[in-house]
Amino acid sequence: MKQKVVLITGGSKGIGAATAHIFAQKQYQIIINYAHDEQKANQLKETLEKKYKATVLTIKADVSKKEQVKQMIETIIKTFGYIDVLVNNAGIAIDQTFEEKTEQEFQTVLNVNLIGPFLTSKEVAKYMLEQGSGKIINIASTNGIDTIYPESMDYDASKAGLISLTKNLATELAPIIQVNAVAPGWVNTEMNQELDQEFVKKEQQKILLGRFAHPNEIASVIYFLATEEASYINGSVIRVDGGFKA
Ligand code: NAD
Repeated sequence: MKQKVVLITGGSKGIGAATAHIFAQKQYQIIINYAHDEQKANQLKETLEKKYKATVLTIKADVSKKEQVKQMIETIIKTFGYIDVLVNNAGIAIDQTFEEKTEQEFQTVLNVNLIGPFLTSKEVAKYMLEQGSGKIINIASTNGIDTIYPESMDYDASKAGLISLTKNLATELAPIIQVNAVAPGWVNTEMNQELDQEFVKKEQQKILLGRFAHPNEIASVIYFLATEEASYINGSVIRVDGGFKA
């Protein structure tokens, strides 16, 4: 049986790295895309190779740059011949007061979090349609549904946009490619490491489980969407927030 191939954007740490572990454990061939941290990506590659005897390729590319995305996908197809799953995980947040937030910051967040998944999906879909199968899984956020944080209004807009993109792509690419989104609540990753501890405490009180998620608790849902067990889920957003009550 042919070994499946998954591309995880922004895959060198956090939710992306946890996702890479699960797919590697399940005998997938893994492509870890990274934008900056080559060392982290290579360390993860080494760990996955040792721990699961996985085949792992690391590719540097900024998902918001069309040419870099195109080259990345071409390299994947040249190396493996096909791609089964795309996880649009790369994302950034630039928290800032409304007064201080610049147009440039707003634009950068949209470029990475929304235009990025559009570009990668567009390139990957060409091959998935040719193959006759494929799954695209977008990592959105509860910020794109109903949690309101004015300091991250650009991030929230990007994730709302990503949810809309998910539904539109599912429609456009049906019935060949399944497109879904996972919307995590708070997760313990580097993205949140600079949060004020008082704020963290207050947010934890709003969560029925009383804590932020471990990245594995998001990765397991991402993996589920790639399995046969999720064969009838399409154009959906799966909320994973421990029971957040605003
Ligand atoms: P993280 O900062 O650990 O990981 C984000 C990854 O994206 C990093 O590896 C980063 O280098 C990469 N990246 C950033 N810009 C990129 C670009 N232009 N091209 C390629 N890669 C790029 O954070 P995380 O929490 O693991 O975030 C993963 C995803 O989950 C993001 O889309 C984030 O918005 C989403 N999310 C996170 C939380 C949370 O609380 N941590 C909650 C909801 C959704």
